[in-house]
Amino acid sequence: MDNYLLQKSKLTEFLTSLGDVNLIAPVAANGTTRFELIENAAKAKLDLEDYTASPKKVVFPQTETLFAFRNKGDSLDIEEGEEIAPTVVFGIRPCDAKSFVVLDPLFNKDFEDPYYKKRRDATVLIGQACAEPTNRCFCPSLGGSPGGTEGLDILMTDIGNDYFLEVLSEKGKKLMNGSAGVCAAAAAADNAKKEKALEQSLGKIKRQVDLKQMHEMLPKTFEDKMWKEVGNSCIGCGICTYNCPTCHCFDIQDEGSTYQGRRLRVWDACMYPEFTVHASGENPRHDRSTRIRNRIMHKFTFYPNNLGHISCVGCGRCIELCPVNEDLIEILNKVRAINE
Ligand code: SF4
Ligand code: SF4
Repeated sequence: MDNYLLQKSKLTEFLTSLGDVNLIAPVAANGTTRFELIENAAKAKLDLEDYTASPKKVVFPQTETLFAFRNKGDSLDIEEGEEIAPTVVFGIRPCDAKSFVVLDPLFNKDFEDPYYKKRRDATVLIGQACAEPTNRCFCPSLGGSPGGTEGLDILMTDIGNDYFLEVLSEKGKKLMNGSAGVCAAAAAADNAKKEKALEQSLGKIKRQVDLKQMHEMLPKTFEDKMWKEVGNSCIGCGICTYNCPTCHCFDIQDEGSTYQGRRLRVWDACMYPEFTVHASGENPRHDRSTRIRNRIMHKFTFYPNNLGHISCVGCGRCIELCPVNEDLIEILNKVRAINE
């Protein structure tokens, strides 16, 4: 597919040329970087450093109305979920784009989830290659890289005065139809600059973890005292799950009365005790050690066995944001040490 060169000074013009779409882009908010719907293309920032929250909510909102109802006495009005407008997520990191690929089979395997599907189909992902990976990143251990293309429709790489744009899918090609005029065609020398930039970024990644046979090793540690030690430190805050781009636990709740109300899907977290409590009061994951063990086994054993992907992309957010410094890489290293 085609490659383009976009002058940095033309970034706002490029975003405006994308047409009548919901533009979701990184913005600075309260000392963090968040992905928000922006009305003015000039508000999109690519020079922000730390992406605390992933844009997972674009395809899997934190709260989503599945339907609303009104009881009119002799009839019932049902209003199906929201209409989804064409959406562009601009500046998404390669690991976060890959997380959408990890989530896809969950919402499509045995039953096609219409709420997820309509959002996913309406969304085009323009990625930003990571020039300065954070000290928490370990995406290469999961098969990714600062210039990874999995899940992306277009990848932008900073090559100095310009961005190098690689069109990666039919969705990306269609989006570029109205925007190609803002860009120039890229030459072989530009491609060489891009390769060099990505090689330098890759060299800045400091952390790694060996995941060979991890899906088989984890079940063998099921009864190990290591989980008690790890669980003793955890305070069950759930930050690791809420900020993880691949975590996807949810609850269905009804709100309202007999006369009118709505059914919602809301994020939940397997790190909370209520997540598995039975109607009888029994809770099979009765303490934090069983819950953290489940979270990690789910990501590295159950999910790959059932859905074909490790449910982690190596973004490192759970490590950086945990208030008690639980470190996923150290836990996985302990699992390997117990097995060897
Ligand atoms: S488990 Fe941690 S490192 Fe892996 S994707 Fe989730 S937040 Fe990122
Ligand atoms: S962020 Fe840390 S303390 Fe909070 S639930 Fe996760 S592992 Fe436990």
